[in-house]
Amino acid sequence: MGKAVDMKIAFIGLGNMGGGMAANLVKAGHDVNAFDLSSDALDLAKDNGCSTFMAASEAVQGVDAVVSMLPNGAIVKSVYTSDVFGSAPEGTVFLDCSTIDVATAKEVASAATGAGYDMVDAPVSGGIAAANGGTLTFMVGGTESAFKRAEPILQAMGKAVIHAGDAGAGQTAKICNNMLLAVHMIGTCEAMKMAEKLGLDPQTFYEISSQSSGYNWSLNAYTPMPGVGVESPADNEYQGGFATALMLKDLRLAMEAADNSDSAVPLSSRAASLYEDYDAAGNGGLDFSSIIKTY
Ligand code: NAD
Repeated sequence: MGKAVDMKIAFIGLGNMGGGMAANLVKAGHDVNAFDLSSDALDLAKDNGCSTFMAASEAVQGVDAVVSMLPNGAIVKSVYTSDVFGSAPEGTVFLDCSTIDVATAKEVASAATGAGYDMVDAPVSGGIAAANGGTLTFMVGGTESAFKRAEPILQAMGKAVIHAGDAGAGQTAKICNNMLLAVHMIGTCEAMKMAEKLGLDPQTFYEISSQSSGYNWSLNAYTPMPGVGVESPADNEYQGGFATALMLKDLRLAMEAADNSDSAVPLSSRAASLYEDYDAAGNGGLDFSSIIKTY
């Protein structure tokens, strides 16, 4: 934190994630113009030191950068093309930190470039606690020069900022990473439950597998069974952590990208359908590791 020089930054989308991120930009010394459709979100932003606006087109007047943290690609595209392009000063750098589909991220970045702006996609790893604490990891897609402009702004909100490649590469990294996460979480759940059914003590299995070739993040750093391995949302009745509904959102984006790129993803598509069923059964609000309860 604190590496950025003072700038005027518009922040659009101050929900669970964006609220804390905007507050961290203020703490780093920036002037932050906030816009959200929700008046509650705007009130909180005001309490956190942001100036608030009733329209995105007003919030982006005279800024050096625009940061957005919005629910999906359709909204990102509409906000930028309708309200930001033409209202933000020419040459402004745009940082979209939302998790959206790769195709829309590329399309909006290309339109931004065409309209005389710089744009990066900069989705995050880390949840609400990391957004509040300024410890997010950003994976960034865009040109080298756009990345260089975005980097100090992102550093004020995170612990790691990684340039993944050209426009869309941040979203690609994010959804491929979370697709892998879903597969190793489900694999970990299956192995732990089968070991238990075969009569092995789950903690003993954890001791062995976490130091053997079964070593993986879901087992070692996020053990999905209560009272076994490291402390995790499993020990808190699967509250907090990374909600099933958010995992499912990312898996749907991953499946769309797999189709668009003609990629073979047999295990991941099975993981996606397991999470579809688990979410549909009313578990969207529970941490994604709670899928172990279905075994
Ligand atoms: P959220 O629903 O809490 O916040 C989204 C905000 O955007 C809301 O305040 C909403 O009012 C606002 N909004 C919607 N449409 C708007 C518009 N047209 N103009 C201005 N504001 C508008 O969601 P969140 O949890 O903060 O997630 C935001 C993004 O971050 C999503 O893309 C999500 O996938 C991603 N993400 C979330 C988490 C997490 O743990 N919550 C983790 C990683 C990534």
